[in-house]
Amino acid sequence: MFNHFPPHVVFEEVPDEVTLAFVISGCPLRCSGCHSQDTWQRDRGLPLTCERFSHYIEQYSGFISCVLFFGGEWQSELLIKKLIIAKQYQLKTCLYTGLNKLPKRILQHLDFVKTGPWLEERGGLADPKSNQQFIEVSTGKKLNHRFYNH
Ligand code: SF4
Repeated sequence: MFNHFPPHVVFEEVPDEVTLAFVISGCPLRCSGCHSQDTWQRDRGLPLTCERFSHYIEQYSGFISCVLFFGGEWQSELLIKKLIIAKQYQLKTCLYTGLNKLPKRILQHLDFVKTGPWLEERGGLADPKSNQQFIEVSTGKKLNHRFYNH
């Protein structure tokens, strides 16, 4: 099962990109203080089939430059299929995961990755003391400074 909620265009989650963002239901990590607990159940939302995913991309064609998944790594084969489709449309790809590390079979299809669980006392990407990291995969560069509040 690879269920999703209707996607949104976002401007700040991936620096310099106009991004179509999908929340995938079923995150198993159960971080304390998670703001998305209503998405924990795997059967929330609708199945994100390859056809439906392509249709979304075509709807936003010429406007978006990147596709982002909030989760979905727990269904890696289904996630990878979507990442491959996004690349076929010449789009960049990003995954926000609560894991600290991802397997290479997923990483090789990503341009950017946000790693690390939500720890309330450390804060998110905008907080310099955050445990989370936003990485450009091709260079391994950490880009957290792009998220700091100025
Ligand atoms: S990884 Fe994200 S969605 Fe999953 S439980 Fe933690 S904060 Fe919530």
